Amino acid sequence: MKRVIILGATGSIGLQALEVVATGRDLTVVGLSCGRQVKTLVEQAMAFGVTELAVADEAAAAGISPGLFPEFTVRAGAGAAARLVREVEADLVLNAIVGFAGLEATVACLEQGRPLALANKESLVSGGRVVSGLAAQRGVDILPVDSEHSALYQLLGGEERAAVRSLILTASGGPFRGRSLGQLRDVGPEDALAHPTWSMGAKISIDSATLMNKGLEVIEAHHLFGVPYDQIEVVIHPQSLVHALVRLVDGALLAHLGVPDMRVPIAYALYHPERRVGAVPQLDLASASPLEFLEPDPAAFRCLELARQAGLAGDAATCALNAANEVAADAFLDGRLPFLGIPEVIERVLELTGQASPAGYSEVAALDAWARVKAREVVVEKAGFA
Ligand code: NDP
Ligand code: MG
Repeated sequence: MKRVIILGATGSIGLQALEVVATGRDLTVVGLSCGRQVKTLVEQAMAFGVTELAVADEAAAAGISPGLFPEFTVRAGAGAAARLVREVEADLVLNAIVGFAGLEATVACLEQGRPLALANKESLVSGGRVVSGLAAQRGVDILPVDSEHSALYQLLGGEERAAVRSLILTASGGPFRGRSLGQLRDVGPEDALAHPTWSMGAKISIDSATLMNKGLEVIEAHHLFGVPYDQIEVVIHPQSLVHALVRLVDGALLAHLGVPDMRVPIAYALYHPERRVGAVPQLDLASASPLEFLEPDPAAFRCLELARQAGLAGDAATCALNAANEVAADAFLDGRLPFLGIPEVIERVLELTGQASPAGYSEVAALDAWARVKAREVVVEKAGFA
């Protein structure tokens, strides 16, 4: 039995991971965490026989006090998920927390040399070399859960690095694919949340609409696979059936295909190095055609280029980019910022960001906090002029 801790269990990835565990064999859940949805967490804990829990929101955690639920050990507060990772023995940690909040648990997991299945791409974008360096130092092979990176991990398995010319990440293009800059001026949160091919949490859905998700994934790929930015390409592929490709020096192009269902990369990471029969239908190639591939539009979707520039500038810039993006995406969801204000906020924060790379978790956290303050100021300034 492989003992697994699932962080962010109440979210889109967390729920699908529990489905993989429930329908499969040989996996047992030994720890669960959430932000504030404690009712769902308690149901999950009871269904999977888990007693070790973590809840980030202190007020929400009061709902599972020892008086009410003596069977649970509940860690509460901002660092609760990291404490769960440090205190509970496990063979694998799946980090499916959303946003920068996932970084501390990633660091805790790597410090212990524990295998890590990483959905929380923001860990690598904010933490950069702090995370990749720690993984290398402790000999932890990070198993990507992001579908494109899972595909790349599988494609790269049999190749010499010298044979790889570039990595290609596919992007569905999100709900606004094909729209011009002018056609994005008045789009609202409901339009942005309606993703055509993937069903995901709110933040990543907004990131998909701005193409920041692909920008974050370029940075994620750089750190996971140690490939320079000029060897990471992005192509729009509306059908979301080809998850990633690897271009080789001899002209061959390797592709990874499958139905767009996150249970496939989740199961791959949970069972690695084994493969199991999945509950996901096989892709019917005859009905899958045509497969289209298009260039992204840099004028309408500026976030992709901003992320690439931040990647080239270094770890301080990617950390600030991530923080500014989280603040701007939140403000857009709350109706405080127009859709096209998202890249403007990020660009302004990047202009204000210094170059010195943060050296450890606390420096990354301080830079993240600074960038959030700046981003909030820019959001307020923009609202004032609206
Ligand atoms: P969701 O918003 O659906 O779920 C997020 C999870 O994190 C929930 O369990 C939530 O708890 C918890 N959480 C929220 N805030 C905090 C916090 N401050 N501290 C601790 N836990 C917190 O997100 P997704 O499942 O969509 O995404 C999770 C991660 O996976 C993201 O990094 C995303 O980019 C990545 N990913 C997601 C994909 C998808 O298909 N959804 C695909 C590829 C990558 P609660 O429910 O209690 O608020
Ligand atoms: Mg992805």
